[in-house]
Amino acid sequence: MEELSRDEIIRLLSDEQNQAEILKRADEVRRQYVGDAVHLRGLIEFSNICRNNCLYCGIRRGNTATHRYRMSPEELIDTAHKAADMGFKTLVMQSGEDMYFSQKVMCEIIEVVKKFDVALTLSIGERSYEDYKAFREAGADRYLMRIETTDKDLYHKLDPDMSWQHRHDCLMMIKELGYELGSGIMVGLPEQSIESIADDLLYLKEIGIDMAGIGPFIPHPQTPLKDAKGGQLDLALRTMAVMRIMMPDINIPATTAMESLHPQGRIMALKGGANVVMPNVTEGEYRRFYELYPGKICVDDTPLHCRSCIGMKIMSIGRTIGEGYGGHNGKLPQIKK
Ligand code: SAH
Repeated sequence: MEELSRDEIIRLLSDEQNQAEILKRADEVRRQYVGDAVHLRGLIEFSNICRNNCLYCGIRRGNTATHRYRMSPEELIDTAHKAADMGFKTLVMQSGEDMYFSQKVMCEIIEVVKKFDVALTLSIGERSYEDYKAFREAGADRYLMRIETTDKDLYHKLDPDMSWQHRHDCLMMIKELGYELGSGIMVGLPEQSIESIADDLLYLKEIGIDMAGIGPFIPHPQTPLKDAKGGQLDLALRTMAVMRIMMPDINIPATTAMESLHPQGRIMALKGGANVVMPNVTEGEYRRFYELYPGKICVDDTPLHCRSCIGMKIMSIGRTIGEGYGGHNGKLPQIKK
């Protein structure tokens, strides 16, 4: 394993000329440590109602122009059931911070979904220790929550009313409870420096993540950051590649935001260190309304279409679809009681 110094990380992140070599090096590390299998996670976007007001996010509370929706528990379970029947071995249930999904409601959903023989990831933001513990005991295996940035001043500017320390504390609770821990950052945020991205990578390594996603920030027209630059696909790809070199055996998704900036974005990512893809299995109109950023791909497609489309893309570059749950080190964590 390569121990990159902070200076070396900064140098690689800045090295636009040698991007192809950096991605190639990450691709070799990926092949050596986690092999050719690409693990698929079916993503269900079950509510876009959110109590937070993050400046970058299209489903922020203050965006009154967005159409809000919330799946009923039955609808969510039904969507999960169909995705499991389609062959997905991991489901990711993501939403805004919608408190309709109380501890009790969530646990009832988790218990049913876990009967479908899937690893279950939750991505529903900041909750109490008691909630995280109850979700875990109900059967949730993994939790995904990006730290977004480790530049605390920037974080507090972008996420008003939220606390960086609290988000970090949540990640620590999640880890302590024995979940597989997923996190990550956005790249290309206003005022975000290369140095701070290097610190983000060192942070992710330090806290011992099992998975991390790197997404390019894409300005949303109905948010205060509508005129920001964003769209830095190359920097996001380099960040992801450097992360693979630093953390050779973790799970790294080719993120949807990358494909939203370039029709081959996820393939570029899979060839530069990524080994996971999260096809959208949300149905109907909901896909369109879960608009974190504009230009989101596949909003008119069906789950089955997305599954076969990404399957073909993966095979076209000589990779295989992962079998099993595809956990970090091939293990599905045991539930602690
Ligand atoms: N409420 C959950 C899910 C958040 S949405 C949570 O707090 O974890 C999932 C991710 O989308 C966010 O963590 C953020 O990194 C990303 N995101 C939000 N707005 C974005 C934008 N404008 N461009 C790119 N990514 C964005």
